[in-house]
Amino acid sequence: MYPASFEYVRATSAQEAVDLLAQNADAKLLAGGHSLIPMMKLRLAQPAKLIDIGRIAEIRGICEKEGTLRIGSLTTHDTIANSELVRQKCSILAGAANKIGDPQVRNKGTIGGNIAHADPASDLPAVLVALGATVHMLGPNGPRSVAAGEFFTGLLETALEAGEILTEIEVPACCEDGSGCTYLKVEHPASGYAVCGAAAVVKMEDGSCVSASLCFNGITPTVFNAWPNGGPLVGGSADDATIAAAMAELSIDEPMGDIHASGEYRVALARAYGKRALIAARERSGG
Ligand SMILES: Cc1cc2nc3c(=O)[nH]c(=O)nc-3n(C[C@H](O)[C@H](O)[C@H](O)COP(=O)(O)OP(=O)(O)OC[C@H]3O[C@@H](n4cnc5c(N)ncnc54)[C@H](O)[C@@H]3O)c2cc1C
Repeated sequence: MYPASFEYVRATSAQEAVDLLAQNADAKLLAGGHSLIPMMKLRLAQPAKLIDIGRIAEIRGICEKEGTLRIGSLTTHDTIANSELVRQKCSILAGAANKIGDPQVRNKGTIGGNIAHADPASDLPAVLVALGATVHMLGPNGPRSVAAGEFFTGLLETALEAGEILTEIEVPACCEDGSGCTYLKVEHPASGYAVCGAAAVVKMEDGSCVSASLCFNGITPTVFNAWPNGGPLVGGSADDATIAAAMAELSIDEPMGDIHASGEYRVALARAYGKRALIAARERSGG
């Protein structure tokens, strides 16, 4: 399978990538290429020009600033999985990145490409929404930020507007102050993509649940946020029985079904893995 012919240009800065996008309506950004190139080979994408952003240093790397992790959009899954800082401050993200595909995919694939592509079976979107992350972009009108919960808008669709590039993902630390977090997935045995992924972040204080978020991928066309407004655990002890009851009541409209799993089976997986993820997150919180 060969892609349709295209022009190729390499950008040396985020601003140059934005300028090049402004000059080429049919251009696409190329990061790790692990989603875009397969799409081009299948001719599901036929960009006239590829703008290679893979070597822009300013949007690569991880640091901590004012209590949050700042992850450049070009940072690979492998770098995130093996970052001591991410492991310490946000173990759920390191764990999820480590579950992506295989070593080759993790070495080339980037967090920015992963979330810009917005595959429903990708691991990072559910984790970032559960964490309450913020997505930073640069476009023709300058920088812009949106909450991860508003970034994923549909199947392969995001809030990225024409001409914008993702620059940084800002992630709150979640392994301190009585918080615990866990990401679990049932993966497709060949690709590693999620048939069902469950991301839980639970904060406990003096034995009482202060906040709980639970998001799924692989079940619906975009991230399914089970409790956008708090949920049933808040204010209680988040004991196993309460979690089990909450998961028994979990309702998911129009789950996806395909050759790997029916919609009904995916909902059953969400209930089972949601329960396990919440219990593990509560235990990790120490509460
Ligand atoms: C065999 C295989 C197995 C995989 N398994 C998994 C898995 O288990 N879990 C999982 O989550 N993913 C999986 N993936 C996908 C992998 O994580 C990809 O790397 C990722 O989805 C895309 O990242 P990329 O850097 O390769 O992006 P690219 O393929 O280069 O780009 C993807 C899309 O994002 C856009 N884009 C890229 N960077 C930016 C940016 N900075 N700003 C704006 N737009 C941008 C591109 O224009 C393109 O439309 C798998 C892929 C393969 C090939």
